[in-house]
Amino acid sequence: MTALASRPDRGSGSVPVVTPSSPVRGQGGPDATPPIISLTGVSAAYRRREVVHAVDVSIAAGERVAIVGPNGAGKSTLLRLIAGTIPARSGRVLLGGEPVERLDRAAVARRVAAVPSVASLPFSMTVEEVVALGRLPHEATFRGPREADRVAVAAAIDRAGIGHLVGRDARELSLGERQLVLLAVAVAQSTPVLLLDEPTVHLDLRHRVEAMKLLVDLNERDGTTVVAVLHDLALAAHFFPRLLIVDGGRVVADGPPASVLTDEAIRAVFGVDPVHALRA
Ligand code: ADP
Ligand code: MG
Repeated sequence: MTALASRPDRGSGSVPVVTPSSPVRGQGGPDATPPIISLTGVSAAYRRREVVHAVDVSIAAGERVAIVGPNGAGKSTLLRLIAGTIPARSGRVLLGGEPVERLDRAAVARRVAAVPSVASLPFSMTVEEVVALGRLPHEATFRGPREADRVAVAAAIDRAGIGHLVGRDARELSLGERQLVLLAVAVAQSTPVLLLDEPTVHLDLRHRVEAMKLLVDLNERDGTTVVAVLHDLALAAHFFPRLLIVDGGRVVADGPPASVLTDEAIRAVFGVDPVHALRA
C-alpha cells in the first residue's frame, strides 16, 4: 500500500503492510462464520471533511486488536463507525454480519460496549449505580434489575478492581478512578465486542498493566472481541497479538506487533526515534 508514500507532508517513509501470518478466522470459505466486525471501503466525514478513507478491516470473533497512530489519525472515528454512532459516508460496516445502521441502539448495546477515555456525570451517582448502567440494555423494560444483573454488576466491580470505591460519589473520583469505573461499566454490559478509546491514559503504570490484564482476561476467558485504541506502543505490543496502525484516515499496517512496529513505521508514522517509542 502506498498510503504514506502518497502523502507528501509525511516525507518519503513508507510502511509495509503486513497481513496476519495466521489465517484470519471468519474469512474462510462460504461456510465460515462471518467476521464479527467488518468494514469494507468505509469512508467517514465530519460535515464535508473526509477523515477516514476507504478502510477495509475484518476482525474475527475472539480477536484482540490494538489500534495505534498519531493524534487526529481517525482512530476514534473508526470506533464510532463500528459502534454505529456516526454513519459511514460510503462503504459498509457490518456487526456480526448485519449492517450496523439497521440495528437500533439497544441492539447495538447488546453487541458492543464502548469505553470512552473520560466521561462526566450530570448528577450524583454512586460507583455501583454507574456500573449498573451497563446492565440497561439487558433489563426488561419496567421490570428493573434482576438478580442476574446484580450478580453481573458485582462481578464487574470485582474484575475491574474497584471494590474499594463502592459507595463513593462517582463525580468525586480522580480521573484514573473514573477510568476504572468506565471499564467496569463495560464489563457489566457483557457484550461480545468491547471497544475502548484510550482506556488507560489517566491510569498510573500499575493500573495500566492491570487494565491490560483485564482486557486479556475478558478476551481469553470470556471470548470477548477486544478492539482498543492505545497510545502506549509498548503496552499495545506486549498485550495485543494484532495491531492496526492508522495514519491520515487510512490503515497503513495490520499484523502482529513485531512485523508492524518496524523502525521505519515508527519514524514515518509517529515521527520519533524508535528508541523512545517502545520503552514502557
Ligand atoms: P484520533 O482519535 O486518531 O485522534 P479522530 O478520529 O478523533 O482522531 O479525528 C480524526 C479527524 O476528524 C481529526 O482531524 C479531527 O479533528 C476530526 N474530528 C474528530 N471528531 C470530530 C467532530 N466531532 N467534528 C468535526 N471533526 C472531527
Ligand atoms: Mg481519539
